[in-house]
Amino acid sequence: MADYLARAIGAGGNIRAFAVTTTDIVNEGRRRHDTWPTTTAALGRALTGTLLLSATLKDKNESVTLRIDGDGPIGGITCDGDEQGHVRGYVRNPHVDLDPNAHGKFDVAGAVGQGFVHVTRQLALEGLYTGTSEIISGEIAEDLAYYLTKSEQTPSAVALGVRVAPDGTVVAAGGYLIQLMPATSEEEREQLEINIQAMGAVSTAVEEGSSPEEILASILAGIDYKVLERREVVFQCRCSRERAVAVMATIDPDEVEQMIAEDQGAEMTCHFCNEVYRLSAEELQQARQEQH
Ligand SMILES: [Zn+2]
Repeated sequence: MADYLARAIGAGGNIRAFAVTTTDIVNEGRRRHDTWPTTTAALGRALTGTLLLSATLKDKNESVTLRIDGDGPIGGITCDGDEQGHVRGYVRNPHVDLDPNAHGKFDVAGAVGQGFVHVTRQLALEGLYTGTSEIISGEIAEDLAYYLTKSEQTPSAVALGVRVAPDGTVVAAGGYLIQLMPATSEEEREQLEINIQAMGAVSTAVEEGSSPEEILASILAGIDYKVLERREVVFQCRCSRERAVAVMATIDPDEVEQMIAEDQGAEMTCHFCNEVYRLSAEELQQARQEQH
């Protein structure tokens, strides 16, 4: 089944809930960036978290960028997503693999390190808004929940899970985001806590075939809710050959002239998706002319 996200509202509007499956997306990220298992888990959690954040956007031209700026060996993670369900992302160093942590899980915290989480929302009316919070665990889900609760003042629970097979491929990935509005009752909060405990690891649920709606049903059990929307989600970059040429048009003309003379072209790699664009001398010439 293709990856998708489901959005629900519960307790008469007091609870907003989102669940998503991202197995294909995380596999695409792994394949494009050649990530090693610990990095696959870290990038996969960040991509999944970005999709959940972008599901809270309201206008179709809005987007969100998540930067996890840690001092660990990964050297930082950057992902962005839009209201249409597209997500893309990369890590500075994809070839990081660490021994499992004390719980036998991927040592994502060790790979991420200490530092800050930055979330930038590009909003239709308000423009750019960036919030920052400290990395409190490095496991990413806890860091996002802390960010949303502290920086955006919306108490939130986040779970992100990636399961990697011995051959390095992703067998299951997904996550959920629960946001509580101020009027949420104490009983509803307690019920959510019980449900979250009972549900266990979200990657296990996805691996066992749970859909986003089924994940929502587990978390919202005993609470009146309805699913409002289902949307397909996909790893998709905004780069293109035309954009690569346009970037060349912003470079110093002498430098472009030099690339034409010495290399008969240029090679550009997109950070976000690792796509390589080999531009010919003619295309560089065209970029040079577009500068005027
Ligand atoms: Zn790209």
